[in-house]
Amino acid sequence: MSELRQDIVSGDWIIMAPERAKRPHDLLPKKKPRKPSPVSTCPFEDLTGSGNGPILLTRPNERAWKVAVIPNKYPALTHGSICATPFRSGPYVLEGGIGVHDLIVMRDHAKGFAHLPPSQALDVLGIAQERYRQLAKDSCIVYVSTFYNWGVTAGASLYHPHCQLLGLPIIPPDVAHSLNGSHRYYAAHRRCVHCEMLAFEKRARTRIIVQNRHAVSLAPFVSRDPFEVRVFPQTHRPFFEQTSERELVGIVAVLQKSLQRIERYLHDPDLNFFIHTAPLKRQAHQRHYHWHIEILPKVTIPAGFELGTGVEINVIDPDRAARILRGGTA
Ligand SMILES: [Zn+2]
Ligand SMILES: [Zn+2]
Repeated sequence: MSELRQDIVSGDWIIMAPERAKRPHDLLPKKKPRKPSPVSTCPFEDLTGSGNGPILLTRPNERAWKVAVIPNKYPALTHGSICATPFRSGPYVLEGGIGVHDLIVMRDHAKGFAHLPPSQALDVLGIAQERYRQLAKDSCIVYVSTFYNWGVTAGASLYHPHCQLLGLPIIPPDVAHSLNGSHRYYAAHRRCVHCEMLAFEKRARTRIIVQNRHAVSLAPFVSRDPFEVRVFPQTHRPFFEQTSERELVGIVAVLQKSLQRIERYLHDPDLNFFIHTAPLKRQAHQRHYHWHIEILPKVTIPAGFELGTGVEINVIDPDRAARILRGGTA
């Protein structure tokens, strides 16, 4: 029988209907090698040419960058001289598209994030942290969203591996749900909801995929999509940008290993990962939050029911997903 599961953080429901999937591998893309686009047409090979730039940040130095932050040439938001304030037009509320839209570009054209040398993968998250700390001083920016699109069906318009970083004048709804739910749980139980879940999951072990001293990846009990994976720091911390480098090394290792397993055991699907962290402002009010990374492989297409209700039907039990991603049999 199928069952409904409620996410204790967001309050959202999903339908777990594993008997709808014949075999997990029927969901997966056909095995075929990913082909990089030609380097000759890639706009990221010369970061200061072809209308790119200026380079905002680099690691490790200006001349031989391995990771660089540049403004997006086609930004969704731009920074003006004043911050955005909401105003009315008839029944509608709107405000100017004030914010920043950066790209974090990796040096190697052909290597996705999963296969970067660990020190470079660390640089990607390290340089993002540096940008968060800069933007925290910007009075117009309330929240920073960092994400990675891998593959055309995951929204990557360019092959060359890069992350995007958007500084927003608002707190996005998914993050607001996560913050409010964590706060609600903390108010009722005086415990972080994510620490509570992690302790339970580590005892149960069935949904754990990779772990080390600093981080754990798991298939969430309330997975919205098949093979959804979340990476949690073991230490409770609201802010991604306040995580120490030592700890980030461990978190990046778990992230890369999890991505490598998705590639290996799920036929290299396109995917997105993104960071959920507490907002830059009003930091004293966010102590209950536990920052983390969510990975969503693109193996299903949302249909009318999902779009019409916000309720996902997941056909892969997360226990089974974790078993597959640990390298066991389905
Ligand atoms: Zn390139
Ligand atoms: Zn916590």
